[in-house]
Amino acid sequence: MKINRRQFKNASIKTKLQVINLATTGLALFLVFCALLANEFFAYRQSVMDNLKVQAQMIGSNSTAAVVFRDKQTAQEILAALQAAPEIIRAIIYLPDGTPFAQFEHPVPQASIALLSVLEQTGLPYFPLRLHFQEDIRFSAEKIASLYIEADMQGLYRTIARYAAITALAAAGALLTAFLMLQRLRDSITSPLSGLTQLMRRVSQDKDYSLRSEIDSRDEVGSLARCFNEMLEQIQSRDSSLSDELSERKRAEARLDTLAYYDTVTGLPNRHFFNERLVYTVAQAGAASGRTVLMFIDLDNFKIINDTLGHHVGDMLLSGVGERLTRTLRSKDVIFRIGGDEFAVILEDIADRDDVASIADKLVQTFAFPFLLEDHEVHISASLGVSVCPDDATDPYALLRHADTAMYYAKERGKNTYQFFQPAMRGKALQRLNMENSLRRALEKNEFILHYQPQLDLDSGQIIGAEALLRWLHPDLGTVGPSDFIPLAEETGLIVPLGEWALRTACAQAVAWQAEGLGPIAIAVNLSGRQFKDENLVENLLRIVREAGLDPGLLDLELTESTLMDGSLANMEKLTALRDAGIRFSIDDFGTGYSSMSYLKRFPLNTLKIDRSFVDGIPENHEDVAITTAIIALAQSLNMRVIAEGVETREQADFLKRKGCPHVQGHFFSRPLSAAEFTLLTRSIATQAPRAEAISGLWSLIGGRMG
Ligand code: C2E
Ligand code: CA
Ligand code: CA
Repeated sequence: MKINRRQFKNASIKTKLQVINLATTGLALFLVFCALLANEFFAYRQSVMDNLKVQAQMIGSNSTAAVVFRDKQTAQEILAALQAAPEIIRAIIYLPDGTPFAQFEHPVPQASIALLSVLEQTGLPYFPLRLHFQEDIRFSAEKIASLYIEADMQGLYRTIARYAAITALAAAGALLTAFLMLQRLRDSITSPLSGLTQLMRRVSQDKDYSLRSEIDSRDEVGSLARCFNEMLEQIQSRDSSLSDELSERKRAEARLDTLAYYDTVTGLPNRHFFNERLVYTVAQAGAASGRTVLMFIDLDNFKIINDTLGHHVGDMLLSGVGERLTRTLRSKDVIFRIGGDEFAVILEDIADRDDVASIADKLVQTFAFPFLLEDHEVHISASLGVSVCPDDATDPYALLRHADTAMYYAKERGKNTYQFFQPAMRGKALQRLNMENSLRRALEKNEFILHYQPQLDLDSGQIIGAEALLRWLHPDLGTVGPSDFIPLAEETGLIVPLGEWALRTACAQAVAWQAEGLGPIAIAVNLSGRQFKDENLVENLLRIVREAGLDPGLLDLELTESTLMDGSLANMEKLTALRDAGIRFSIDDFGTGYSSMSYLKRFPLNTLKIDRSFVDGIPENHEDVAITTAIIALAQSLNMRVIAEGVETREQADFLKRKGCPHVQGHFFSRPLSAAEFTLLTRSIATQAPRAEAISGLWSLIGGRMG
């Protein structure tokens, strides 16, 4: 029963309606059927009973005389008239003493007897097979006999059965008609519902929110369909705005992707792309038989073009370079712009190393012709570093380092060329890298100090100034001289903060000496080309001097000829600004650079420093003597001060003094000293008050002792 109920619950509405309809119609018909049968039964029974009574009265009154006269035969004949009433099966007239007087009997069908016995056994008295009735026969109100009359009910049941059959047939017909009519009704309810269900299923399966229900009836199903359509409408509009948003987001992502992976100046893939591609290509190369080649291309002196012609032209040049390189390479080779003026090329599937050389050569050759940018004809070259996988490395990062190292070597080899990576390069590159790192750290950890080399006047024997010279107190290597780290510091740009530090320290030291009572000591500070190019040079320099509280007239900046010549116009402005502030300038290592006489006149310079290499050959080497003499004369004619550096012997000092160069600096007098040593030396000279003639010896004595 439970299962049936559950089955019913899960059955379709159609089935449910069918079951309910059939059940209710069936039940109604059954009840009608029962009522009709019951009515028929009781009516028939009553009519039989009435008939019995009528018969009994008729027989009773007819047979009164026969009983009174004890005329059995007549009585018998009267009873025999019952032959015409087939339902009466027995009639007996009893005398008052109970003896039968006359009797009539209809033969009872055998079936009836059997049925009778069965019914009797079941004890259903309400459905008797026989009905009987007893009537008193009276004469002058005195009872003279009684009539017992019995009727058979089989006829009743037969009639009932026939009736039941007809009724059942009619009921079945009615049920069928009802069923057919209900089916139509049911379909009119369930088919829109199932249509709606199917629609929903399609929507959920195909995610097609443009579907709509076409039911437009005014009933509940109709309003359900309308609600459903509205819901779909909302989903569809939300869906479309969502997909709009999504595609907008996708477009934005694609834009970002382009920005993230491509360089905007050249349109080439950028460093980010390069890194990913290199890792991928090298991983793939493991399986292939050919070689993967990485080339690093660095433009030579790009910065000069950028600085002189402007960034606009610089960008045009970069994009032109990108185009030329792309045209030179095969379509499957990928070229990247990985930094300011750095490009990289990844070549896949190269069978032969010689092929690589010819490609590298072709790439270098693409720079042979000048680039025409706006009105400028720009000449530029490039240096190439090549590393090959798997020959040099199978790891992308090592490959990268090797190509970089090789490129660095190409630069060292005079630029405009290419270099294959060789393991021997690695040691030097590593050394350089280590040096660079520790140089950076040294600046943070204050590992630098300044030494001061006295500059003196041979006539007065007085110290007139000091040149500040950098020393690196390396924790492992001990004291490292500037020639071992200045070039690298210049290359990496570290010279700018380092130079500023040196300047600040030197200025502070000069002020301190003055405060200690050593008198005004001019301080000479070396300025590298890189520092001089710094846009904020003037501003920074003046600030440092101001902050130190130094008289700018005591600061002497040493520049080389090449520093001065590089970008002369801007330099002129800087020099003028600084000189206007009172700062003095010396040309360091004079005679070793361009030695263009015209700039000596143009620039506001104070001092020429005769380079050590000329002083070295004095007085034996005629050329050195000639050059030194010429420089002294030149300085005098230009009204400039002259100082000789690297004076190591008495002869040199004597010679210089004789030729009119009284200012000197060199080991003959003193090596570069620490600040404390410098103080000590200056004090001891002051107390000894040396005479000018004996100065060399004294200096040599003091210098020898102190240096
Ligand atoms: P420089 O400016 O020509 O400095 C003079 C160099 O000659 C110093 O070498 C000094 O020690 C050395 N010297 C002086 N007298 C004699 C001598 O009688 N004989 C010999 N053989 N050498 C002598 P140092 O200190 O090794 O400096 C080398 C170079 O490093 C300097 O050459 C200068 O160009 C650079 N330098 C030093 N300090 C600085 C600095 O603070 N900034 C910059 N930019 N460069 C510096
Ligand atoms: Ca110098
Ligand atoms: Ca010098």
